[in-house]
Amino acid sequence: MNNLSSNQQSILIIYTGGTIGMREDPKTKTLSPMKFGLIQEEIPELYKLGFYIHSVTFNPPIDSANMTPEIWIKLATTIKTNYSHYDGFVILHGTDTMAYTASALSYMLENLDKPVIMTGSQLPIGILRTDGKENIITAIQIAAAQKNGKAIVPEVCIYFSSQLFRGNRTTKEDSQQFSAFTSHHYPQLAIAGVDIKFNYDKINYARSKGILNINTSIDDNVIILKIFPGINRRYFEAILALPGLKGVILESYGSGNMPTYPWIFEAIREATLAGVIFMNVSQCPGGQVKMGYYETSRELQEAGVVSGKDITVEAAVTKMMFLLGQQLPLAEIKAYLAQNMSGEIED
Ligand code: ASP
Repeated sequence: MNNLSSNQQSILIIYTGGTIGMREDPKTKTLSPMKFGLIQEEIPELYKLGFYIHSVTFNPPIDSANMTPEIWIKLATTIKTNYSHYDGFVILHGTDTMAYTASALSYMLENLDKPVIMTGSQLPIGILRTDGKENIITAIQIAAAQKNGKAIVPEVCIYFSSQLFRGNRTTKEDSQQFSAFTSHHYPQLAIAGVDIKFNYDKINYARSKGILNINTSIDDNVIILKIFPGINRRYFEAILALPGLKGVILESYGSGNMPTYPWIFEAIREATLAGVIFMNVSQCPGGQVKMGYYETSRELQEAGVVSGKDITVEAAVTKMMFLLGQQLPLAEIKAYLAQNMSGEIED
């Protein structure tokens, strides 16, 4: 850990990797992550913030395409271990899977009452036009922001390109523009212009009580199954009959619709009888799943498929993994899937 400066609020930066800390290999011309010590050299402004800042680097720093539940657990554990020493946490992470990690952490960190702000960048910090500097500096300011001695944003968030989002409501929507993330169903928690304007009414203060508890049981016996015209019956049936499969995120059309081929419902019914849990999430970024609205989703409802309403695929698959990890009875897992746990789904 490196001490950058000492004053007022204390912030722990956890560097996992991602483009923000990448350098180009002169031989292969590919980008790969470097150590955080070098990022500090690239952002001397961090010293000027006047906060007490420490950093920890995960070894090795990774491209977030290689993110795993084990690293989510390491992140949750690092936050828990350091919780009483810091006012806020900033996680530097690749953009590719940031929305998954933010969602997973939003379930794993129970009773969170301090900010956990994730950020990264589209251009490495060493590149002249990098978006990384503004992202990291503002993320730190948000993580340190307090009102009446209390954190303004006690949530797991993603800060990117002037916008602060609830982490489990985000999706990476652009790999080229600086504004890489969006949240289709929930407004920004803050917008950083000349001032940082917080959207106080939309910030979740309800869970901010008790002692931080980390719940790190994750079950990865899940799959995301996207429906498309021409979907092959043999493959569909074979996937649902996989031994050990426990949870399926069905990516359906529009407001939760699926083809009404009898073999589709038969396969879903059989898997359900074998104890597999299904959640219906729409391929449409806007709008939401309304099962039973069309004939093409009525049978799903009858088969006991859970409606994902307005949840993102990222928040859905991590919620399924988290709930399956809790060893609860099937009916309870389904009940939790259908309801709001960490602001990820409409109430
Ligand atoms: N592939 C990179 C990553 O997710 C992309 C990024 O950071 O923007 O680690």
